[in-house]
Amino acid sequence: MPARILDGVAIARHIYASLVPRIAALKLRGVHPGLAALQIGDNAASRIYVRNKVRACTEVGIYSEAHHLDADCSEAAVLKTLEKLNRNPQLHGVIVQLPLPPGLNAQRLLQTVDMDKDVDGFNWANLGALVDARKGLVPCTPLGVMAILDDAGIAIEGRHAVVIGRSPSVGKSIALLLINRGATVTVCHSKTRDLVNHAARADILIAAAGRAGLVTVDMVKPGAAVIDVGINRLADGKLAGDVAFAAASEQAGWITPVPGGVGPMTVAMLIANTVTAAERIADAPKLPAAV
Ligand code: NAD
Repeated sequence: MPARILDGVAIARHIYASLVPRIAALKLRGVHPGLAALQIGDNAASRIYVRNKVRACTEVGIYSEAHHLDADCSEAAVLKTLEKLNRNPQLHGVIVQLPLPPGLNAQRLLQTVDMDKDVDGFNWANLGALVDARKGLVPCTPLGVMAILDDAGIAIEGRHAVVIGRSPSVGKSIALLLINRGATVTVCHSKTRDLVNHAARADILIAAAGRAGLVTVDMVKPGAAVIDVGINRLADGKLAGDVAFAAASEQAGWITPVPGGVGPMTVAMLIANTVTAAERIADAPKLPAAV
């Protein structure tokens, strides 16, 4: 039987709908959630991503600001902008759109974002909270993967999950979320020997390598949940994931398409993180005014 296709656009719509009452409750308390996106340089794809994020904010009633600095700006100028955004009480989320122009130290800049406003979840304090299964802000794509699994009612606890890819913000964070939910997790990467055999034992197979066609049907256990995080631009200009979709969807129990699977979830989870950040900032005990 062909797999059930997991529709990320529809699931993202449920996420946005679930945020509406939370945003309304914050507004009743006088808190209007706000997100700032900082783009440095003129990467065309980044411009589109920032525009999509701003549009998503507008659609759910979140305040947003798009900031731009020239590609040849100094690191000091970026740090100054980020510190200003960190201090702005109208903002509960601050993101730096990647990739950065050469010459800027991405890690130094990402670590400057206030951990309470780090709605991309890239700050080491938030990644550390994820390692320790504590409350923090979790990277958006991994959160989106978990939301897809949960929306479909796919059991995680006690299942064997295989994650292909080990980048901190994608593969490794997905692996940590799955471990924290009780899965037994195998992480595969570019140095893994015998990828096929590892993958073929997965109840939940997550492909996050950025290699079109890497996951072939012999790597899919019958009935497995296959979540394709990869986004690859093919020679003909079309987008494809890491999974050979047509054949894999005959073998899997559930599968995400590309486009229309994990992609739309990433922006939805950014907005969800901004609402979460606004709630936590609003609930945090206020220090008495200095005398
Ligand atoms: P990355 O390049 O930082 O990491 C890729 C990982 O894949 C590495 O850990 C590497 O070891 C592993 N890998 C590469 N080739 C492999 C192979 N042949 N076999 C096994 N492992 C291999 O990339 P990333 O930032 O983690 O992103 C991964 C993919 O997910 C990319 O296609 C990216 O575009 C996509 N992505 C999608 C979204 C989304 O919203 N859907 C968000 C972020 C990233």
